[in-house]
Amino acid sequence: MKESKPAISFALHGLPISGGIAIGQAHLVSQATLEVSRLTIAPRMVEKEVTRFETAMTNVRAELGAIKNNLENSPAEMRAFIHVHCMIIEDPELSKATRQIIREQRCNAEWALVQQMNLLVEQFDRIDDAYLRERGHDIRQAVERVVRELAGHPASRKSIKGENLIVVAHDLSPADMMTFKNMNVVSFVTDVGATTSHTAILARGMDIPTVLGLHNARQLIRDKETLIVDGTRGVLIVNPDPRIIEEYELRKTQFELERSKLKLLKTTHATTLDKIKIDLLANIEVPEDVTTVLESGAEGVGLFRTEFIFLGRGDMPSEDEQFEAYRKTAKNMEGRPVVIRTFDLGNDKVLHVDEAHSDRRRENPALGLRSVRLSLAEPKIFLAQLRAILRASKFGKVKILVPMFSHAFQVDQTLALLEQAKSSLRGEKIAFDEDIEIGGMIEVPAAALAIGMFLRRLDFLSIGTNDLIQYTLAINRADEQVANLYDPLHPAVLMLLSHIISSAEKAGVPISMCGEMAGDPNFTRLLLGLGLRQFSMFPARIPAVKQRIKQSDISEIEPLARRIARLDEPAKIAEQVEKLNATQQ
Ligand code: PEP
Ligand code: MG
Repeated sequence: MKESKPAISFALHGLPISGGIAIGQAHLVSQATLEVSRLTIAPRMVEKEVTRFETAMTNVRAELGAIKNNLENSPAEMRAFIHVHCMIIEDPELSKATRQIIREQRCNAEWALVQQMNLLVEQFDRIDDAYLRERGHDIRQAVERVVRELAGHPASRKSIKGENLIVVAHDLSPADMMTFKNMNVVSFVTDVGATTSHTAILARGMDIPTVLGLHNARQLIRDKETLIVDGTRGVLIVNPDPRIIEEYELRKTQFELERSKLKLLKTTHATTLDKIKIDLLANIEVPEDVTTVLESGAEGVGLFRTEFIFLGRGDMPSEDEQFEAYRKTAKNMEGRPVVIRTFDLGNDKVLHVDEAHSDRRRENPALGLRSVRLSLAEPKIFLAQLRAILRASKFGKVKILVPMFSHAFQVDQTLALLEQAKSSLRGEKIAFDEDIEIGGMIEVPAAALAIGMFLRRLDFLSIGTNDLIQYTLAINRADEQVANLYDPLHPAVLMLLSHIISSAEKAGVPISMCGEMAGDPNFTRLLLGLGLRQFSMFPARIPAVKQRIKQSDISEIEPLARRIARLDEPAKIAEQVEKLNATQQ
């Protein structure tokens, strides 16, 4: 009898995206390729090729439409991303340009479509914001569906068999992830992907152990091999021996026990041991996120990144469209605060809206015409957004947040525009909240240091640590090559945070934090000790941060936290933060 060789066991390391342990069977997803060849089409066949392209687009639209209609009980992120893919596929520009390429160059539909996709993706690649740049990735994924359809391999997977399936792919689109839902999928691992990619955000929203960026896992793993995924550490073990499986079964049980304990916190208040009440709010991108926000037990929306709703389309949203999105969010939050941030768009994004901007593009867009600078340079667009937010303020507790202030005159100009928006609405007899609060984000070191001029002019402030760290340490937050320099515990960052929070406290101006730092329980005590009382984060992070708050006594941690913010020796800071986190467990 032929003896079968024992499978070789090995481990791969990638990016820990969504925590937890999964043990199961590999399910390999065929590698969709966008490397299509160029074929020349005979003149009489050109119109047939156009029809073939249009049929594929219609099929993909129908497929995405069907997925969208089945999303009722899915995470809000999922609905949002499918929505983005639908918008990309429905964008008339994509079809129009592809048809034109087929006709003018007499080439096959796949090739024409990929050419047009490359053009669009290039525009997104130039955006300095990692989050927005990832949207170029959405275009790639949406186009991939059409290419698969053209090749006769539609993306939909009717069903896959087996228990505890671990999806192994080169890359996964949100729509792909959707088709795996309800199919005994317990984990996702992919070769590519970054922390801010949609796949990563979705995996976190679905709360499924996920490791991305494994480079060549798809090539090394065979179908049905046994895998262990440690989403917390970013480790994938292929063909583990029985003792390792036993060890991980134990870790899995412990993790699940811990998570179910955390879920019990949903209805409890985030109050410290010394009875100080902390506000935990959620960051959202689209109105549909509200479902997840309410499920998480958040007390409101602390950051609504409005630019995200309108991505993937070729024009700027009208005031009415914006009003509808803001109204829906405010209404569904049922009186809880909703902080709507005005557009935080980069220079490149505006290229879509108005060709006239093309001469404004610069080499260093992070320091260029982005965010409030762009809004003030486009008063018509800014005014429309302010009017839309004001109109929505009648339907809930809405506040306005303006990103990236660095100069006092920017606040003055914004307040003047707000006044103009209000008086135009009064003239039209449209109701709005006359006392609507307006706040500013502190995410530029200059604004942090000269905070007084913002405290005097605004109703509240919110610290954007993602950009504040980027600008303080002079590192592009989207550049992997300098990612190791991105350090929230750098002494300069801590000095700025301490200065911002204590100045706001003294001035009696409410201050919150909505950057990633607010959602990391490792920083919760430090921030509490520095005086922060409002945190806004991705909804899934709320339970862990709440637990940390409930185990903390501010009167005890305050002296140590303040001492840490005065240290300028990194090793000492790390040691003291560890000490701070170790007490009162
Ligand atoms: C930040 O900079 O911390 C922030 C919350 O804004 P964004 O991540 O959207 O730039
Ligand atoms: Mg920012």
